[in-house]
Parts: sequence; C-alpha cells; structure tokens
Amino acid sequence: MGRLAGKVAVVTGAARGTGAEIARVFVDEGATVVVADVLDERGAATAAELGDAAAFVHLDVTSAAEWDAVLAGVVERHGGLDVLVNNAGILTLATIGDTSPERAEQIMKVNLLGPFLGIRASIEPMQARGGGSIVNISSSAGVHGEHGVVAYSGTKWGLRGLAKSAALELGQYGIRINCVCPSGGSDEMVAPYMATLMERMRSGEPVDFSGTPRRPMGRNVTLREIALMTLFLASDESSACNGGDFVVDCGYTVGHVEPGAPGAAPAQGGRS
Ligand code: NAD
Repeated sequence: MGRLAGKVAVVTGAARGTGAEIARVFVDEGATVVVADVLDERGAATAAELGDAAAFVHLDVTSAAEWDAVLAGVVERHGGLDVLVNNAGILTLATIGDTSPERAEQIMKVNLLGPFLGIRASIEPMQARGGGSIVNISSSAGVHGEHGVVAYSGTKWGLRGLAKSAALELGQYGIRINCVCPSGGSDEMVAPYMATLMERMRSGEPVDFSGTPRRPMGRNVTLREIALMTLFLASDESSACNGGDFVVDCGYTVGHVEPGAPGAAPAQGGRS
C-alpha cells in the first residue's frame, strides 16, 4: 500500500519543476493526481508521462471561477478531494525600484491570492471526505529576508500567515494546512534572471565563490527532497501537523558559513 493510497490530490503549477516532482512522488505512493497549470502542452505531457493515475487540467490559480470549475470536475471524475498542494508561483529577480507595480500585483495574485482561492474552494469537497491536507509551497524567502525578491518574499511570508490562520478555522473539519519552505526549486524559475551565471557554470567555466558565505551543507536541496516533505505533510503520517512551517533548505536559513572563521568547512567549488 502506498503512503497516499486511495487519495485524490490536486497539485498546482505541476507542469514542470517542483510541482511535477511532487506529482511524480504522489503517483508513486498511490494517489490519483490532478496536474493543474497554465502551461497546457507541458502539463499534458507531464500527466501523460505519469500514466493513468494522473490527468492534466488547465487552471489559472488567480481565477476563482476556474478553481470552482476544476474542483467540481475533480469531485465528479475522481469522487472527491483529499489533498491540495498550492505550488504554482512566479518570481522576478529585481530591486524594489525595478519591480513595476503591475508585476508586483501579478506576483501577489499568483503566489498569494491563488492559494487563498484554492483553500477556499477546497473546504467543501474536503469536508465531504471528512477532512484533508493542504500544503503551501513557501520558500526560504518566506523564512528570512532576501534582497532582489522583495515582492516575492512578501508573498512567501504571506503563505505562512495564510496557513496558520486557516489552520485555526479548518481544524474543526479535519482539514490540516502546512507550509514547506524550500531554499531551491526549478532552474527554469530563476534562469531568466541568472542566464549569464548559469551558462558559465554549465559550461564548466570556473566561477570563484571562495570568498562568499556558503550554505552549511555545501549544497542546495533537490526537487525530490522538497517532494518528500510535501508527501509527508499530504499523508496521514503527519496527522498532528497543522499550521506548521517545514524548512527544506540544508540549513540555509539558520545562517551562513563564513569563509576563514573557525569551524568553516573548506570551499567545495560551485555555488552552494
Ligand atoms: P517553475 O517556474 O518551474 O514552476 C512554477 C509553475 O507554476 C510553472 O509550471 C508555471 O507554469 C506555474 N504557474 C505560474 N503561474 C500560474 C498560474 N497563474 N496558475 C497556475 N500555474 C501557474 O518553478 P518551481 O521552482 O518549480 O516553483 C514551484 C514553487 O516552488 C513556487 O511556489 C516557487 O515560488 C517555490 N520555490 C522555488 C524556488 C526556486 O529556486 N525555483 C525556491 C523556493 C521556493
């Protein structure tokens, strides 16, 4: 028996990256998974790759009407809803001054309004099943401050508040809601803003990071590690976890290793 056997899950932003990995792990553990995204071709391909236990639906998380239609379809086709993963998100790497009000509003709509609408639309179907689990994918930028992502960071902190306050309201229905706070994700999200650096690293060109503060474990997280934490929170194994923040960051948010200070591991090359 899989850890999600018999459960029906909706994963937003699952056409690629973190969401696709979460969908993969969920299917492997026996869930029926609805891959929801605005990327129709990529989403359909991801669902097809996952086999009969997965299906793609178009969902723009900023639309309340689309949420209602998608969840009604999920209940009709699959018999109910047990798990919602609010994973869809967008990012801009720019200073506050270089982030237009329009772009900031868009980030807030996708990253924060979207999950609010998802939680709101999931209450009735989850109540009908006697409970459920909602997981918001926040970020290390929702645990500490990060420059260059101010609008994004605000939404990722917001997701944690959303989860804690919703947990107080929804616990009475057996609906739990928690946050995963990863320090990494899909390269595709950051690539447009770090194209030059990533190209240099991929081509093997040496990049000198030896003097810069480093992560405690000398590496960043993998998509699988984020998906496994999400799996735990989605499953009944986490039945007492509600309103919590679960960092998956190799120690990134506890501090940085300062080169040259006592106890610092030697630089390992590459960007960690
Ligand atoms: P990604 O860009 O590969 O995936 C995001 C997905 O969300 C895409 O498939 C995209 O099409 C979808 N999406 C965007 N707008 C949408 C909308 N309006 N409706 C539905 N779907 C929409 O990036 P990722 O890293 O896999 O991101 C997944 C989550 O992880 C996001 O919430 C992101 O903020 C978070 N995260 C990412 C990183 C990182 O370094 N990439 C770090 C920490 C947290």
